[in-house]
Amino acid sequence: MRFGFDNTFARLPERFFARVLPTKVATPALVALNREVAALLGLDPDALASPEGLLALSGNAPPEDADPIALAYAGHQFGSFVRLGDGRAILLGEIVGKDGQRRDVQLKGAGRTPFSRGGDGRAALGPVLREYVVSEAMAALGIPTTRALAAVTTGEPVFREETLPGAILARVAKSHLRVGTFELLAARDDREGLEVLVGHAIERHYPARAEDARARGAPLARALLEGVIEAQASLVARWLGVGFVHGVMNTDNMSISGETIDYGPCAFLDAYEPNKKFSSIDVGGRYAYANQPRIAVWNLARLAEALLPLLAPEEDEAVRVATELLEGFMPAFQTAHLAVLRAKLGLSEAEAEDVQLAADLLGRMAANEVDFTIFFRRLTELAEAPDDGAKEERAAALFAEPAAFRTWAETWRLRLAREAQSSASRAAAMRLANPAFIPRNHRVEEALQAARHDDFAPFEALVRVLRRPHEDQPESAHLAEPPRPEERVERTFCGT
Ligand code: AMP
Ligand code: MG
Repeated sequence: MRFGFDNTFARLPERFFARVLPTKVATPALVALNREVAALLGLDPDALASPEGLLALSGNAPPEDADPIALAYAGHQFGSFVRLGDGRAILLGEIVGKDGQRRDVQLKGAGRTPFSRGGDGRAALGPVLREYVVSEAMAALGIPTTRALAAVTTGEPVFREETLPGAILARVAKSHLRVGTFELLAARDDREGLEVLVGHAIERHYPARAEDARARGAPLARALLEGVIEAQASLVARWLGVGFVHGVMNTDNMSISGETIDYGPCAFLDAYEPNKKFSSIDVGGRYAYANQPRIAVWNLARLAEALLPLLAPEEDEAVRVATELLEGFMPAFQTAHLAVLRAKLGLSEAEAEDVQLAADLLGRMAANEVDFTIFFRRLTELAEAPDDGAKEERAAALFAEPAAFRTWAETWRLRLAREAQSSASRAAAMRLANPAFIPRNHRVEEALQAARHDDFAPFEALVRVLRRPHEDQPESAHLAEPPRPEERVERTFCGT
């Protein structure tokens, strides 16, 4: 079987990776296949679902044109520098899709590599399906993300705190280059390697910036850093707009392309709580919901440090450039976040007070433990007929103190009245900014538990519904509901 690979990273210097084949598994079985992603890659979904396809997706017989490698990288994990590398993921190769986009195809959980250290190189079924469902939901929400091509079980157990079924995720990404990829070369004092990597990354992810920098005789590293800062500012703003908490924003989990990558202990807010964290290992709340912009800048400062020798000929000048670019993150984030909030509030024009209007609402939501997703959906319904008292009460009822909403809604209505757009077009736009369905943690856990007992129906139902997150889908209304107190899942475990 051939995938039509066109590999570029595997032709870069050997010190960037290790050539390693996936380790064969006992009895692979296909549990999920993403036909949409297969089509994006120009792969025949039926061929992937065939016995030969299963051999490729499980790593038992990689496609003939694959050039399997494990990438070398480092990372700051919870603030500490560590040399890492793909310890259980193997990149099969790159495919240029029908849309002209180049994408990596990687098998996560494909066996040990030279970077595995103490690990078994494997993944458990639960985290594989979690990444599958959450990344597909993110894609449907229009948020840049890696995608899932397929999930297979291996027929072998993995040993964690308990014995679990083993699985492999075939993951697709614009690339697997991370902040940590650059940090590793910097730690090795490999200036030449850094230059090669900068050239590769910028041509791949920010070609227009590369062209512009060349025309101006500006350093490519600077243009790359600028591009990553802008992409991450926009990404984190969009995460906040849907209540997403990544959970483990280490620099090895921050993509150069600006895609969400590495769904471990991630979760979505139910009630709006800015300090919310779910990850069992994030003891101090470093990666809590509202801390994500600050952590993004911290991570980007590590990227800037790694690129320092390439930012300017003199160190002082390089530090000045890095500082200036990093200082651009927060304004870029705030602009992107305000755009997200305006869309959620149904505002198509910009007014200076919008910042205050949004902040006031969020403060009231936090104080009243209001469900983030349901509230904005009810606000959308109210926006269709802003003077409909019953609709106002449906939104107000979400607040412990309903008057807290009514007071705010008065200001909001006055603000809407200053807009030119009709209620109908406003409501249509709000629907797209305010999903009805997000991957609620208790529903994800429920689906994973069922899958563990060979019942994949809840997982499939969840994926199906989350593919159309902005549609009402009354037959699946229960999946939009917040958890009852006894259903709440407050802790997520790292995806190994
Ligand atoms: P993650 O938290 O999934 O981003 O993983 C952090 C690092 O640990 C990465 O370099 C992984 O490749 C490595 N790792 C995670 N789980 C395993 C495992 N089961 N075997 C080997 N390496 C692993
Ligand atoms: Mg990772």
